[in-house]
Amino acid sequence: MDTLVVPDRDKASAASSIRRVGIIGAGQMGNGIAHVAALANYEILINDLSPDAFDKAMVTIAKNMDRQVGKGLITEDDKKAALALIKFASDFDGLGECDLVIEAAVEDEGVKRKIFAELVKSLKPTALIATNTSSISVTRLAAITDRPERFMGMHFMNPVPLMELVELIRGIATDDETFEICRDFVHSLGKTTAVSEDFPAFIVNRILLPMINEAVYTLYEGVGTVDSIDKAMKLGANHPMGPLELADFIGLDTCLSVMQVLYEGLADTKYRPCPLLVKYVEAGWLGRKTQRGFYDYRGETPVPTR
Ligand code: NAD
Repeated sequence: MDTLVVPDRDKASAASSIRRVGIIGAGQMGNGIAHVAALANYEILINDLSPDAFDKAMVTIAKNMDRQVGKGLITEDDKKAALALIKFASDFDGLGECDLVIEAAVEDEGVKRKIFAELVKSLKPTALIATNTSSISVTRLAAITDRPERFMGMHFMNPVPLMELVELIRGIATDDETFEICRDFVHSLGKTTAVSEDFPAFIVNRILLPMINEAVYTLYEGVGTVDSIDKAMKLGANHPMGPLELADFIGLDTCLSVMQVLYEGLADTKYRPCPLLVKYVEAGWLGRKTQRGFYDYRGETPVPTR
């Protein structure tokens, strides 16, 4: 993953009805979306439960942009201009003038439901809403809002500045105009889209997460160690990252939530989350973001935890 997808700032006008973009959740996805959208010249307002999360996000964004400057992909001036476009909104009223709000809070349907129910009270009637959910029904989330026809799934991949794809998911009520504006917006960020129907976990995670869950079962049953499982898939299947390394990267809480949505949504035991994955999440070992998951990241180099 050493190529970087750099947004084309000139294409920002393509999604011309969008100028100001709200982002809810300043975690790894929220900060990545802010990064690419600010480089494409959109004004960004990020809301999170705490200003701390925003401050951390700004440090991460600046560091990631420095890397792009180092590679000659953007200039120092591009970086400065983009960072100046990103501001903190302490509440949803602060998102009131946004043309598009992208929700990227935790993968928990209860949390997302509360967010949407509150958010719509502050939004202007024309504003579009997108969710970055990895797995939850877009139709169901849209139904909580006062504008299901202006609601879309816009599923960015992690890490956002590097990954080319964004899955677009229409809810049952999403209208064509909303779809087209969202598609043009994503293209203006320099990304490519793939359209998925609204079924649990869409396309990428419907295929990827069962593989990761199976890797955790392989560990749980003692078929291999963390090292041997990741090495096997990297060298034997030519995957750029091993599945357990990738799980740590995604966040084990997110992996578990996606498996639960697949298990419940498709009612098929083949999606049963591995008990070891549950145990790691219960321990608060969520992967890179908490410095411990299938690897311990607190030292110089990651050390397998099993
Ligand atoms: P994360 O844990 O890094 O960040 C979540 C952020 O949401 C945190 O900063 C948290 O404080 C904030 N938050 C929680 N409740 C909130 C609320 N009520 N209002 C405002 N902010 C709130 O998670 P993430 O990895 O960035 O994932 C965010 C979303 O993106 C999830 O829906 C996830 O499924 C999806 N997603 C994740 C990945 C991935 O690889 N991690 C990839 C694609 C999509």
